[in-house]
Amino acid sequence: MPVPLTLNQAKEVIARANRMIANEGVLDAFGHVTMRHPTDPNRYLMSRSRGPELVQPEDIQEFTLDSQIIKPIEARLYGERVIHGEIYKARPEVNAVCHHHAPSILPFCISGMELKPVYHLGATLGPAVPFWDSRDDFGDTTLIVAKPEEGASLAKALGPNWIVLMRRHGATVAGTSLEELTFRTIYTARNAAMQIEAHNLGHVSPLTAAETELAGEYNLRPGPVARAWEYWSVRLDKAEGTWSGAKPKVGASKRKAAAKKPAAKKSAPKKKKSKRTR
Ligand SMILES: [Zn+2]
Repeated sequence: MPVPLTLNQAKEVIARANRMIANEGVLDAFGHVTMRHPTDPNRYLMSRSRGPELVQPEDIQEFTLDSQIIKPIEARLYGERVIHGEIYKARPEVNAVCHHHAPSILPFCISGMELKPVYHLGATLGPAVPFWDSRDDFGDTTLIVAKPEEGASLAKALGPNWIVLMRRHGATVAGTSLEELTFRTIYTARNAAMQIEAHNLGHVSPLTAAETELAGEYNLRPGPVARAWEYWSVRLDKAEGTWSGAKPKVGASKRKAAAKKPAAKKSAPKKKKSKRTR
């Protein structure tokens, strides 16, 4: 999955990912989505403190991996920045992180019941979902992960996996790209809901280890990831009242008109617009 070419494009997509995941009910007033800086791997991009559903490109700030803001601002910053910074430090292949308190995930964080892939799209959970108990390293706390050592402890618990449950708090999800992260975040929250519902019906067995690996790889091919991104993106546009998909696309009608014209003039072939990562 190509990385956005410019910082401005990155700000646009990270703001959109915040709103998309909120629109799907995974994030609410709290939680955050970040991505590694598109050209400087020692920085990441994160909104100023506000509900993810409200995040706009101009809210996005740059942070060092020690979670210090590059250009200080008056507005409040998120308290749990170290969750992101410490994971980017520990996992060079991770380019996007989401921390959330989704209602479907919380029962697992409260009960300690294992979260397991129970259907094909849930396979993006990966083979193991570690459980981080902040009391192991820090005893009684506010449960908010705000100190660098707390972030580092969480990143250590995540290890080589893609999602870590946080006792009585929520989950943190990682991805190699923003699109992959969005896919994993939404479908792992759905998997959690399915697991609970299926459990209410009776015995639930997870996918086998081989199924998890095969389905996980299948789901994360560029095609399915792009299809899901477009779907959630259009749902967001509809929710925000900005969807124009029902109208004919400008590009398509231009092509149609051009096809009708007699080929009198031979014009130079137009340069193809570079494809945005959406
Ligand atoms: Zn939190």
